[in-house]
This record gives sequence, C-alpha cells and structure tokens, in this order.
Amino acid sequence: NPGATLSLRLIPYSENLWLLVARDVSRLLQLEQMRRDFVANVSHELRTPLTVIHGYLDMLDPEEQPDWAPMLAEMQRQSQRMTQLVEDLLTLSRLESQDHLQAEEHVSMASMLHTLRREAAALSQGRHQIDIDDSAHVDLLGSGKELHSAFSNLVSNAVRYTPAGGRIEIAWRPDGQGGVALQVTDSGYGIPASHLPRITERFYRVSTSRSRESGGTGLGLAIVKHVLQLHEARLEISSEVGQGSTFSCHFGAGRVRPHDLPAPIDPP
Ligand code: ADP
Repeated sequence: NPGATLSLRLIPYSENLWLLVARDVSRLLQLEQMRRDFVANVSHELRTPLTVIHGYLDMLDPEEQPDWAPMLAEMQRQSQRMTQLVEDLLTLSRLESQDHLQAEEHVSMASMLHTLRREAAALSQGRHQIDIDDSAHVDLLGSGKELHSAFSNLVSNAVRYTPAGGRIEIAWRPDGQGGVALQVTDSGYGIPASHLPRITERFYRVSTSRSRESGGTGLGLAIVKHVLQLHEARLEISSEVGQGSTFSCHFGAGRVRPHDLPAPIDPP
C-alpha cells in the first residue's frame, strides 16, 4: 500500500528477541478525519438557524403574554446553551485540524490576568472571593486568542464548580526551571481521583446534572488540552473532593519572553 501510514511497535518476545509489529493505520486516520469534518460541517450548518431563532426570541416581549414568560426565559436559556455548544464544537474542530500554531505573538499575561479577573467577576456576580497573583512578570509566546479560550474555560469552571462564599485564585508564577505556570485554584466541589484520567475527554463529566445546571457544554477541558498541546505545554490537575481543585498549565522556558507591555490600569 504505497503512501500508507504505519504504526510501529517493538515488543519484547524472549530474552534476546524483539518483535517489530507494523500496522497500517491509514484507514483509521481517514475515518478520524471524516469524523472531524462531519462535526465541523454540522456545527457550521447549525450556526445560522440558531442565530435566527436566538434573534427572534430576543424580540419577543414577555410582558405582552405574561403566561409565556417562564417558557420564553427557558427557550432563551436553552438556545444560548445550544449556541455555546456549537461555538465550542467549532473551536475544537479548528484546534484538532492544526498540528502546530499558525501564528505566534507576544501575549501579555498582565493583560490576560486582567481580562480573566473581569470575566470571573462577571460570572461570579459577587458570590466568590477572586484573587490574582502575578509574580512571573513575563509574557508568553503563542496564540493570544487560543490561550485566552483555554484559560477562560478554567476560570469559568472554577466559578461554576465552587459554591457561593468560596475562593478562586488565578496565579501566574515562575516554575523555578525557566518556565512559567498559570494556575487556577478553587475551593469548590473537587474531583474524585478516579475521574481525573478521563476528565479532558470531550463530553466527559463527573456529574452530568451538576454540569448541565451550571451551563457547561462538556467541551471546556478538551479545548484546554488541545490549546496546551499546540503550545507544547502540560496540564496538571490536583483535586480533593470537598476541598477544591488546582488546574496548572506549565509552559517551558522556550515560550517565555520578557514582559514588554505596561500593566493595564483598572478604570476608577
Ligand atoms: P463542563 O462544560 O461540563 O464543565 P469541562 O470539559 O469544562 O465540561 O469539564 C469536564 C468536567 O470536569 C465537568 O463536567 C466537571 O464535572 C469537572 N470539572 C471541571 N472543572 C472543575 C472544577 N474546577 N471543579 C470541579 N469539577 C470540575
């Protein structure tokens, strides 16, 4: 089969004999590509009708038909969820179709932390204590858009899986080996150890009902995993049930650049 993609494996056979097993995985790769294309196409096709439904729902005035108000509110909530799901599926398809970053830039982490704090505060609506620790004072070389989508998924999870009164910390720290880590720590529900190995798979959830209630799409950590892969970075998760979780994104020294932008100033 000329042009085939082979997967090679060396297996110990006896004391001084090894077996080399070659498997033609071309068909598997082709099927995987078909799956990705299908998901991307369906998501793309769903976008327009959803925008129309969403737009018309926004125009309906619940005061004209007070009996319909709860139904309208639920329809709006569900159409918003569907829109977010389609957007996340498109993001994931885009990330899966790249094996390296298309463009790299200096990403100011001071601005990133500022944006993340604003997003966390908007989601939390005063129900949590939100702290920022910026002790790295360096920037990252990478894609600002993709990094933001990964970090904001971690921050939104921290808010959604932490009961009111809890604490969330977003920290940007040197790792002592020339690299840096972005850490999102919460004092929330935590994740049982048995779930951790599969937690970044798409649609994998610890508690489906809690995730649905909290407005999740089940794709957040899959997006985080792919963005980090594209930046040769590693995700570490430590968690204790009832105590909280820490999600750390570790970037190697090759991605670290001197900080060259002034820190953003909070509006008065
Ligand atoms: P979802 O949209 O369901 O939140 P994610 O991929 O972002 O999807 O997360 C997968 C699952 O991991 C969630 O359903 C939840 O069970 C668990 N999880 C993620 N982040 C946290 C967190 N900070 N604390 C507790 N559980 C979490």
